[in-house]
Amino acid sequence: MYKIAVIPGDGIGKEVMEAALTVLDALNLDFEYEFGEAGDECKEKNGIPLPQETIDIVKKSDACLFGAAGETAADVIVRLRQEMDLFANLRPVKSYPGSNGLFDDLDFMIVRENTEGMYIGKEEYIKDESGNIIGATAERLITRYASKRICEYAFKYAKDNGRKKVTGVHKANVLKKTDGLFKEVFYEIAKKYENEKIEAEDFYVDATAMYLLTRPQSFEVIVTTNLFGDILSDEGAGLVGGLGLIPSANIGEKSALFEPVHGSAPDIAGKGLANPTAMILSAIMMLEYLGEKEMAIKLDKAILKVLSDGETVTADLGGNATTTEMAEAIKNEIS
Ligand code: ATP
Repeated sequence: MYKIAVIPGDGIGKEVMEAALTVLDALNLDFEYEFGEAGDECKEKNGIPLPQETIDIVKKSDACLFGAAGETAADVIVRLRQEMDLFANLRPVKSYPGSNGLFDDLDFMIVRENTEGMYIGKEEYIKDESGNIIGATAERLITRYASKRICEYAFKYAKDNGRKKVTGVHKANVLKKTDGLFKEVFYEIAKKYENEKIEAEDFYVDATAMYLLTRPQSFEVIVTTNLFGDILSDEGAGLVGGLGLIPSANIGEKSALFEPVHGSAPDIAGKGLANPTAMILSAIMMLEYLGEKEMAIKLDKAILKVLSDGETVTADLGGNATTTEMAEAIKNEIS
C-alpha cells in the first residue's frame, strides 16, 4: 500500500487533479490518498498558503501529487522543496503526438539541481554614500555535496532507464570556481559509471541552448545547476509543445513531489478546458518513482492512444473535449 499526499491547490490544479485520480483509479493500485490544502484559496480561508498540517501529510506520504497554486505558488512549492529536501528536479522533454511542438522525435530528461546555485536567495544592494541603490549582487553557491548528489542521481537515472549518455552542463570557463567544481564532480561520478557503459560529455550552457535547437535528438540525460536547469528545461518544454503537456518531478532522499509545469491558469479555470495530460504524465513519473513500471507503461500507452487519435482531446490540442471527457477516454483505453 502506498500513501499518496494529494494537493489539488488552485484553479485548474483542482480539475486536472480530479482527472488524474480518475485515471489512476482504473489501474487498481493499492493507493491511500490523503488530501492537503495549499495555495491562494487556502490562504484566504486559513490565513496561510501552506499549513503545517499539509506539510505533515506530505512528510508522512510515499509520494505527493501537486496540482497548481496561483499567486502563492512560490511560498508553497519552494517551501515544500526545502522542507522535504527535494534536491532533484526532473523535467522530461518528450514529444507526444498532436502537440504541435517543434520536434516530434524527442525523448530525453533534464535533471536540475534544486537546492542551491543562483537560487539561495542571497542578494544585496550596493549603495552609494547617500544611500542610493547603484547596483546589486547575488551569491551563487555550489557545494561538492549537492553537485555529487545531483550527478549521482543523473547517472543512476541513466543506468536505471537504459540511457547511454549523460551531458553535464555548466559555464566553467567563466565561473571557474563554482562551475569548475561542478564539472570536476561530474567527471568523478562519471568515472564510477564507466563500467556501466554510460558515456559522459560536458558542454557550456550557451552551447547547450543552441544544441537544444539544432540537434536535440543527441541528448539522453542532461544534468545541470539550478538556474541553468530552470532555463534549459523551459527551452525543452518549448521544443515539444504546450504547457498542458509538460510534467515534472521533485525528488528527495525520502519523498518526492510530482506536478505539472503549468500553473493555476485562472483564465480557463472552472470551464472544463484544462488539458489533464501534464498532470497525468506527472502521475506516470510518480508510478515510475514508486517502482510501478508496468503501470506507468500502461498509462503512457493509454495517453499516447488518446493523443494520436486526436478525437477526445482538449481545445489546446485542437479538440473540443472537456477535461473530464479526456480523462474518461484515457481511462477507457486502460480498461
Ligand atoms: P499561475 O499564476 O498560476 O502561474 P498563469 O496563468 O500565469 O497561472 P499558467 O497556468 O502556467 O500561468 O498558464 C499560462 C497559460 O497557458 C494559461 O493562461 C492557459 O491559457 C494555458 N494553459 C496552462 N496550462 C494549461 C492546461 N493544462 N490546459 C490548457 N491550457 C493551459
